[in-house]
Amino acid sequence: MATVLSLQLDKRSVMSDFERVDCLLLGRFQPFHLGHLEVVRKIAKECDELIIGIGSAQISHTFENPFTAGERHLMISRALREEGIKDYFLVPIVDINQYGIWVSHVRSMVPPFQRVYTNNPLTKRLFSEAGYEVSASPLFNRSHYSGTEIRKRMVAGDDWRRFVPRAVAEVIDSIDGVKRIRELMAQGEWDAGD
Ligand code: NAD
Repeated sequence: MATVLSLQLDKRSVMSDFERVDCLLLGRFQPFHLGHLEVVRKIAKECDELIIGIGSAQISHTFENPFTAGERHLMISRALREEGIKDYFLVPIVDINQYGIWVSHVRSMVPPFQRVYTNNPLTKRLFSEAGYEVSASPLFNRSHYSGTEIRKRMVAGDDWRRFVPRAVAEVIDSIDGVKRIRELMAQGEWDAGD
């Protein structure tokens, strides 16, 4: 009887391992906004483990990438705490300018995953070519829930707070983020970004 039970338990654990879908969401999150939050909510329902990779972790203090990886880490973890989402891994990932080995680089930095959520064409291509399942995440209210739009609004003095989780606005206020972005814009600190 004990042997039968242990065989059944073994089978169940093998089955659940087989059926697991652990998911990676990659983004720069400059800043983390309500569109990103919707995607996280969706993935949290669809996946066993949720891994969030904070991309371009080495870049900060430019108009397109104003916030450091640490500041973005704080924005995301506080916003998800506010949402009651507790089970996830949050991993900063620096860019390497050699696309052919970028997927291996990401794999070496995060727990195992089977599916990647992204709309970024290059990210999609690199993970598809490496044999990963890639899901496009639906775009929520893209005209407003967009890092570029939110940063432009900050510079123009328009309302941006309603497009980010409350916790994110608090982190941005605590580091005087709007002033930073305005000054970076005035100084012409540009780089490639969305
Ligand atoms: P992002 O923060 O702009 O977007 C993150 C994800 O959220 C994207 O899939 C985007 O489509 C989605 N999103 C944005 N607004 C949304 C909305 N309103 N509703 C739903 N989804 C929304 O980040 P990104 O530019 O896609 O980040 C990709 C990262 O991967 C960058 O850091 C990039 O440098 C990195 N990367 C690096 C290499 C390399 O170094 N070799 C190669 C490829 C990609």
